[in-house]
Amino acid sequence: MNKIFITRSSMPDFEEYIEEIKELWDSHWLTNMGKKHKEFQARLCEYLGVKNIELVVNGHMALEMTLQAFNLTGEVITTPYTFASTTHAIVRNNLTPVFCDINPDDFTIDADKIEALITEKTSAILPVHVYGKICNVEKIEKIARKYNLKVIYDAAHTFGETYKGEGVGNLGDASIFSFHATKVFNTIEGGAVCYKDKKIGDKIYDLKNFGIHGPEVVSGIGANAKMNEFCAAMGLCNLRHIDEEIAARKAVFKNYTSILGDVKGVKISPVQNDVVSNYAYFPVVFDEKEFGKSRDEVFDELCKEGIVPRKYFYPITSDFDCYKDRFNPLDTPIAYDISKRVLVLPIYGELGAENVEKICKIILE
Ligand SMILES: *Cc1c(COP(=O)(O)O)cnc(C)c1O
Repeated sequence: MNKIFITRSSMPDFEEYIEEIKELWDSHWLTNMGKKHKEFQARLCEYLGVKNIELVVNGHMALEMTLQAFNLTGEVITTPYTFASTTHAIVRNNLTPVFCDINPDDFTIDADKIEALITEKTSAILPVHVYGKICNVEKIEKIARKYNLKVIYDAAHTFGETYKGEGVGNLGDASIFSFHATKVFNTIEGGAVCYKDKKIGDKIYDLKNFGIHGPEVVSGIGANAKMNEFCAAMGLCNLRHIDEEIAARKAVFKNYTSILGDVKGVKISPVQNDVVSNYAYFPVVFDEKEFGKSRDEVFDELCKEGIVPRKYFYPITSDFDCYKDRFNPLDTPIAYDISKRVLVLPIYGELGAENVEKICKIILE
């Protein structure tokens, strides 16, 4: 039986990629901000509608280095309803995550609960546009201005989205993207930071390339987190097909919605107003009393039939083993509750209507 996983990495035709990397054999220039890196950086600025972007080795390092570039101290307000990377990036910078609950409609940080968590140690807010749902950016911006806090968005799920007609990479002081193989858009592994202040871009460049400024000049204490030429080439290829991929995902999303939209005890999450979505994920929240089955029962049933959905995001990060003695998942009761009831169904361009119907049939029966 061919299993259906939550996602399937988008890939260009083999020949297209080979054509793209041919020059690398001729030039022997494989990494260190070569021709593909530069070209990809320029193409991304156009596609995402941003002025400044720094390419890096993956989304997690983009996040870690961005927090470092802002010289943050003390506490960072964030949510536990996210991938491990968000919380780990804060903790690995010797900062303390302060968890704010999410709102149950779109799973993003509940902006009305942020102010109560601010102390004199707070230096930044790190919200997540989870599943590609855009946070309450106006409210967050207002709070950040009032208390002089930096806003860094974990925009790993939002590649290609716009909010009120503007590329989402323009939101906050910086936004980070992931180009991991499992994301809507991939460079195999890869990531990027979009930023407003040029000085932040310079610092991230230092951090990703050992602080090297010339053959004999090393003026920063950086690490190594460069994107190599093969990943940039993959990005150039996948970028040619991204609109097609998103359009195909939209069809899958509509299919799911038409079948599951009115089922009692099954809550799906529509596209937000003012957002052009990338249809990255299809989260479904089950109400066991109304639906008759729990999330875990549905999960097991799907797995038996060769469908592999994911319990994203369960457990919430504040409930991870590594944080057991430090945080209490009950501090964010809504995130905790939803994490136990949510299932993300398979969604990718090539999934097709037949598979969507098959998946829904298993759920409904
Ligand atoms: C994927 C992801 C990351 C990390 O990206 P990588 O490219 O895998 O390092 C960070 N935050 C969120 C919300 C993600 O889903």
